[in-house]
Amino acid sequence: MSNPRVAAAIDLGGTKIRTLVVDETGRILGVDQRPTRAADGREPVIGRIIESVHEACAVAGVRIDEVAAIGVDVPGPVDFDAGILLEAPNLHDWTNVALGPILSERLGPPTFVENDANAAAYGEFRFGAGRGLRHMLYITVSTGIGGGIIIDGKLYRGADGTAGEMGHITVEPSAERHSCGMHGCLEMLASGTAIGNAARAAAQEGRSPMLTRALADGMLTAKECYDAAKAGDPVAAEILATAARYLGIGLANYINIFNPEMIVIGGGASNMFDLLVEPAWTAATSMAFARPAQSCRIARAELGGDSGAFGMAALALEGSHHAALPSAALT
Ligand SMILES: [Zn+2]
Repeated sequence: MSNPRVAAAIDLGGTKIRTLVVDETGRILGVDQRPTRAADGREPVIGRIIESVHEACAVAGVRIDEVAAIGVDVPGPVDFDAGILLEAPNLHDWTNVALGPILSERLGPPTFVENDANAAAYGEFRFGAGRGLRHMLYITVSTGIGGGIIIDGKLYRGADGTAGEMGHITVEPSAERHSCGMHGCLEMLASGTAIGNAARAAAQEGRSPMLTRALADGMLTAKECYDAAKAGDPVAAEILATAARYLGIGLANYINIFNPEMIVIGGGASNMFDLLVEPAWTAATSMAFARPAQSCRIARAELGGDSGAFGMAALALEGSHHAALPSAALT
C-alpha cells in the first residue's frame, strides 16, 4: 500500500503564521508557528510563510518534493481558481496578491488559497465535528461572526467566492448600521465584541458591581461577562441571553434556508455553549420549520484553531488530485 499523500497547510493570520504538515487521513506530522509581523509588508511575510513551510516539513521528516500540495487560508476574500488573495484588511499591503502562484513557484507543489472561514468550515466537515455528513454549516462566533457552507459535500463559494457571510444578516432592523452596510446585523448583536461592548456599558452605568470590578481590573470582554453570568450576575446573564436571542434568529433562518444536518459552532462561543449557544439553539428550533429543525444538530467545532489549516490540507490534496487527473488518464 502506498504512503498517504501529504499536504502543507498554512493558516495566515494577522498575528501568526501556523503551518501543519498533514496527511490525507488528517494526521499531523509536523507543526511550525511564528509571528506574521504584518507591518513589515508583504514580501517579508511571504518569506516567513516559506520558512514556516520548510520548518514544518523538517519537523515532519518530509522533503518538500514529497508534499503533494500546499494550502493557505487567508483573512480575506479570494479568487480560489486563480489562487489570488483579493484583499486583507488585517495585513499590510495585500491587495490582489497571487499568493498561490507565488508559493507554488518558490516551493514547488501546487498551492491553493481560500478564505479562512470557508477553510475552517471545510476542515470541520472533513476532519472535525461534521465528518461523514453531506450538508453542514459552520459558524464562528468570536470578535466577529463568519462561517462557511457545505452543500452536498462541497464547499459553496457563490458567484464571487464571497458566500458564507453568516454574520452579516439583519436580525434587528431598527438597530444602527454596521460597517458592512446592514442595519443590526448578527455580528453587531451577538459577537464576542457585541457582548463585551454591552458588558462594558453595563459596568460604566454601574448596573453590575461584578462587571464594574472586572472593568476596573482592566479586562472586561465577553469571557469576563460569561464568567460573571456563571457566578450569578443577573446583568451579565441578561447580556448573554440577549445575544443568544439574536443568534437564535440567525440560526433559525439558516435552518429554513439550508436544511443542514448540522450547524458547527467555532470561535470563542464554543466556550460559552451553555449560556449562549444552547439558549440560541432552543430559540432557533422553536422558530424554524419543524422538519428541518428536528433533523439538524448543533455541535462544537472539534479542531479548535486548526480548523482552517485542516480544511486547507483537504482542499489542497483534493484540488491537486483533480488537477492531476487528466494527465494521469493519458498514461
Ligand atoms: Zn455586518
